[in-house]
Amino acid sequence: MDFRLTSDQQSFQDEVTGFIKSELPAGWDSAREGTLEERLAIERQVMQRLAERRWLALPWPEEYGGMSASPMQQLLFNEQMAYHRVPGVINMGVAWVGPVIILYGTDEQKKQYLSRIASGDDIWCTLYSEPEAGSDLASMQTRAVRDGDDYIINGQKIWTSLGHYADWGWLAARTDPDAPKHKGLSTFAVKMDSPGITVRPLVNMAGSHEFNEVFFEDVRVPASQLIGEENRGWYNVAVGLDFERSSIGATSTARRTVDELVQYLSSKAGGVSPSIRHRVADHALSVTVLRMMAYNIASIQEKTGVAPNREAQMAKLFGAEMQQQVAATALSAFGMQGQATHEDSSAFPFHYQYLRSVANTIEGGTSEIQRTVIATRGLGLPRE
Ligand SMILES: Cc1cc2nc3c(=O)[nH]c(=O)nc-3n(C[C@H](O)[C@H](O)[C@H](O)COP(=O)(O)OP(=O)(O)OC[C@H]3O[C@@H](n4cnc5c(N)ncnc54)[C@H](O)[C@@H]3O)c2cc1C
Repeated sequence: MDFRLTSDQQSFQDEVTGFIKSELPAGWDSAREGTLEERLAIERQVMQRLAERRWLALPWPEEYGGMSASPMQQLLFNEQMAYHRVPGVINMGVAWVGPVIILYGTDEQKKQYLSRIASGDDIWCTLYSEPEAGSDLASMQTRAVRDGDDYIINGQKIWTSLGHYADWGWLAARTDPDAPKHKGLSTFAVKMDSPGITVRPLVNMAGSHEFNEVFFEDVRVPASQLIGEENRGWYNVAVGLDFERSSIGATSTARRTVDELVQYLSSKAGGVSPSIRHRVADHALSVTVLRMMAYNIASIQEKTGVAPNREAQMAKLFGAEMQQQVAATALSAFGMQGQATHEDSSAFPFHYQYLRSVANTIEGGTSEIQRTVIATRGLGLPRE
């Protein structure tokens, strides 16, 4: 096994790091401290710069604005972007909406939506979860009823990330209430400023406004915005989830935290306790293991053309729990100062990560569900 990058891969990685060093808009690295409008303005500028290089939709075919990048190129790109915390890169339009439209959309829909996602002009949010439908997503109750040339949508979605500034929503709703639950769903593109949509903020325990509740009251959506066949939406949702491939984002985020922690501890007055030293060593080991898992997933995908499901689930589970453990160690290392909630404290970024990391084992599927899927589908253990 040869772990070295090929010369093409190395030069692509150098190009990406060079871009991060010198071509991002001024103020991008302090964007998190600004108001929502300031952060959004920076994110949009970053997206435009990435789009100019066809990097925003890197894995998409060239005809839709991408570069047909290989899984390994995507991994190298995502790794650098996550490590440097470049904003505006997590993009649901690119990650799963576009790929599903490429597979199941009409020519008209491809023309309408894809180039505006790849150019960074349109931001999308995902409207799946409901108050009574999370892990058991197929039990969602939001209704879409055909009325002439439109569908009329009624219901409520929850935990909608970016719902407060997305231009478009990727909606799953029930079109046949009498069919078995996986067979009566359809997917739609919905303009987020359509009359009848109300977006209400939900502030997370780290104090930031990332997600929302979204209410639909007699919202008219043209039938031309149904994506794929009516009542086959569950398959679009499942295919979309498969596009979330490796856990390189989690690896790089945790690796950055470990690097920053090492830097802090190396110069800390009063030394470092043996327990913290050992925990940091364990985290450095876990970060390396997760990175290898991500590279393995990309290399299997590169050879077979398919992302290996079991390995991807394992990496998601391992990475989410590792991020929480790394953040917990960081907070302990700061002692009482770790409780600081004011932004000018050197402990603040770790404090924030500690609180934010709670969501890691919930978003994109909880750890309990990941374990069940690995044990049953992955390892073949009986369900009962
Ligand atoms: C930061 C963040 C961002 C999100 N963004 C979006 C978004 O943009 N769009 C969107 O649609 N959704 C989004 N979600 C929602 C997310 O997908 C759901 O929260 C997640 O799927 C869990 O669903 P739930 O919250 O309803 O919990 P539940 O499904 O009610 O689960 C509650 C608890 O019960 C456990 N549990 C449930 N079923 C089982 C089972 N069969 N076996 C064992 N244990 C079980 C769970 O593991 C969990 O611990 C986001 C969530 C977070 C935290």
